[in-house]
Amino acid sequence: MQPAIGFIGMGIMGMPMAANLLKAGFTLKVYNRTAAKAQPLIEAGATLAASPRELAQEVDLLILMVTGPEAVQDVLWGREGAFRELGPGKTLINMSTVSPRFSRELNSVLSGAGTTFIDAPVSGSKKAAEEKALIILASGPQEAVAQVTPVLATLGKKVVYCGEAGQGSMMKMSINLLLGLMMAGLAEAVAFGRAGGLSPEAILEVVHAGPLSCGLFQLKTEMLLSGEFPPQFPLKHMTKDAKFIIDTAFETGAGAPLGHLLLHLYRRGLSHGLGEEDFAAIYRVLEAPPG
Ligand code: NAP
Repeated sequence: MQPAIGFIGMGIMGMPMAANLLKAGFTLKVYNRTAAKAQPLIEAGATLAASPRELAQEVDLLILMVTGPEAVQDVLWGREGAFRELGPGKTLINMSTVSPRFSRELNSVLSGAGTTFIDAPVSGSKKAAEEKALIILASGPQEAVAQVTPVLATLGKKVVYCGEAGQGSMMKMSINLLLGLMMAGLAEAVAFGRAGGLSPEAILEVVHAGPLSCGLFQLKTEMLLSGEFPPQFPLKHMTKDAKFIIDTAFETGAGAPLGHLLLHLYRRGLSHGLGEEDFAAIYRVLEAPPG
């Protein structure tokens, strides 16, 4: 029998992910702090819960896709939070990006109360979420992950088992370290060439003609050429993740010198007022004169 699924967080990622669960035939009940944002999904056949608590009461499997640790805490332990309705027989999958430490702590509290906890952040952005092309970085008890894999498989093209709870988040940190640096690298190369009299079009044509071409660079080319950065992965989220990367590096003893640079750069993006733009808007910081 298919589980009754609850989904919290109708943001850039949560909305298309929840829509794909619905399209796959799952019975879906959703909650979003700003209820109006869930309307398109209600029209597509989901039902709306008035609170995380009501949602947790009614489903076997609860998925979270919210901003980060504070939002996860709010939906679990805030007013009408879900926690008190969880327990034996229920599974919580957190797909929001949080630090590995936060995931391990969450696992300890939830599994201590009998809830099965799966830490499963995703690699891939809005387009991948829409096209079911996410890579799901699942961790937790292997048997429990196997049990929910048919659900996770409707959200992405690959489910990768990363180990015990927290290791999915650890994998996500590694991937986002690379992602943030690659984006900054492309942006700086374009800004640098442009300052020397090359056109961004010509630089990007050369990038795409050779071995440097990749999906990320293709996805961001239009933004760099138009100077418009509509948010797919907001810069404020990249900055949040850079902070988790540095915190994690301190805990594990990894040097991560470029991770420190990443945090510095994207924080400058925030102070340039770019938090709500796509993280490709780091270009604005890198094209600015030194100072
Ligand atoms: P988003 O568009 O900013 O949506 C955030 C969601 O979290 C919204 O539904 C928001 O509710 C909810 N939320 C925030 N604070 C809350 C609180 N205190 N209590 C309850 N709900 C709260 O974010 P997103 O881009 O979908 O990202 C979601 C997660 O996926 C983040 O952890 C992000 O790092 C990760 N991620 C994003 C991408 C991407 O490309 N966008 C890719 C991979 C992973 P409201 O609607 O009421 O504001």
